[in-house]
Amino acid sequence: MRVRFAPSPTGHLHVGNARTALFNWLLARGQGGTLVLRLEDTDEARSTVASAEGILEDLHWLGIDWHEGPDVGGEFGPYRQTQRLAVYRAYADRLRDAGHAYYCFCSPADLEAARDVAVREGRTPQYAGICRHLDPVASRARVDAGEPAALRFRVPAEIAVTFTDVVRGPITTDIAMIGDFVLLRQNGLPAYNFAVVVDDVAMRISLVVRGEDHVPNTPRQCLIYRALGETPPQFAHLSLVLGPDHAPLSKRHGASSVAEFRARGILPEALRNYLVLLGWSPGNDEEILPIEELARRFRVEDVTRSAGVFDPDKLAWM
Ligand code: GLU
Repeated sequence: MRVRFAPSPTGHLHVGNARTALFNWLLARGQGGTLVLRLEDTDEARSTVASAEGILEDLHWLGIDWHEGPDVGGEFGPYRQTQRLAVYRAYADRLRDAGHAYYCFCSPADLEAARDVAVREGRTPQYAGICRHLDPVASRARVDAGEPAALRFRVPAEIAVTFTDVVRGPITTDIAMIGDFVLLRQNGLPAYNFAVVVDDVAMRISLVVRGEDHVPNTPRQCLIYRALGETPPQFAHLSLVLGPDHAPLSKRHGASSVAEFRARGILPEALRNYLVLLGWSPGNDEEILPIEELARRFRVEDVTRSAGVFDPDKLAWM
């Protein structure tokens, strides 16, 4: 059992993400596995150092530790994607050399114009494949001469991509819905889908537990695994955490981040216990379980498909 928690440091640790971290931690803890923490900080415009520090502090406060990572003063630090750019480049070269990826010289303005036309004509806006048929040797020469280019994945002509989700069952996506997508941006930074697959391969992750907002990304990731000749991990996508009005939990419900609950004086055990029971049940009506007992009994197969409803005010009474 090798699992990971991979937050993007673009804000406070949301309660839904804290639950994802906790589920991964319980799996590793209960089954003698390994949890890896990975900060997905390649979004230059939105990632901040303060957010990364806040997330680490919140995890620490919740009692969530991890079992592997770069040495930081004798402790395991998180992996940071911005420190792994050479790894992504090496995998990108492999995909390019095998013909699974090609250089794309389209400017943001070209792409936007093409997207507008597609929307106007009622088509799914996806890359029109302008650079797909360029001669790879000539493209390589342009890049070597300093011309900016992104690297795009060549989506194969197939009917469908299917994966079986531990929580949601088989999920099939029509490949026509997936246009050739970017692996490396013009600035050399990896796109989310690419970095996540490279890291999950390199870190030998066996089970990916994350929010259901990533279900639409998973078919793209499956295609990258296949092109790399790697077996995908198992996937378990957790339903969203909703507020009492059944809208996704957000600030307007009062409190939605771990930091806010800490500031209210909630005990970490109370928040942890509340979060675990949001989408998982011990099979009877026990409501408060010691953490070791939770770890022993927690199974990802028992996570419910229905969304967890989180009531910040109810937690205040525990
Ligand atoms: N960094 C992503 C996020 O915070 C998660 C990626 C993943 O778990 O695959 O939503």
